[in-house]
Amino acid sequence: MRKLASIILFLTMLFDSSAQSTNSPLQISHLAGDFYVYKTFHFYKGTLISANAMYLVTDKGVIMFDAPWDETQYQPLLETIKAKHNKDVIMCFATHSHEDRAGGLGFYRQKGIKTYSIGKTDQILKGQNKKRAEFIIPNDTAFAVGKHSFKVYYPGKGHAPDNIVIWFDKQKKCCMEVALLKVLKQMI
Ligand SMILES: [Zn+2]
Repeated sequence: MRKLASIILFLTMLFDSSAQSTNSPLQISHLAGDFYVYKTFHFYKGTLISANAMYLVTDKGVIMFDAPWDETQYQPLLETIKAKHNKDVIMCFATHSHEDRAGGLGFYRQKGIKTYSIGKTDQILKGQNKKRAEFIIPNDTAFAVGKHSFKVYYPGKGHAPDNIVIWFDKQKKCCMEVALLKVLKQMI
């Protein structure tokens, strides 16, 4: 139960989206170890909403989990990461097909960054005539990059029909969607 609570705390930090005003369109904060959370903003139905996403710094390069919601921050995010960590972004995962997650797939793919999604996400993006990931991965896939390893899996429909979970074994950290968080809260 404690483990579940710590995961939920992490999720709350990661997916705390709320209406707010901001001075900086791109805000990066250190989460723990090699994990960083970044926040961008987007006008949605007339209100400025924030969206949090995450990146992981490895000795091979930086892995992004979701793209900025604000498309004006696609390039600044790469430059900020380079300046802050002296590393390039090498991989980008879209955790589902919504604009605040997958919107940057075309941009990052065209930059030569390896982009990933599961087949369900790819089908939705294709159906909407949107930019898609270069690499379509099975629903359950393990990755090892530098000294980090993580698993991608599809837990079933949550916030979106295609939302995936990314689980970091060593850190016992989890990156998933907010609807799933609500389910977990009900379990406690
Ligand atoms: Zn969404």
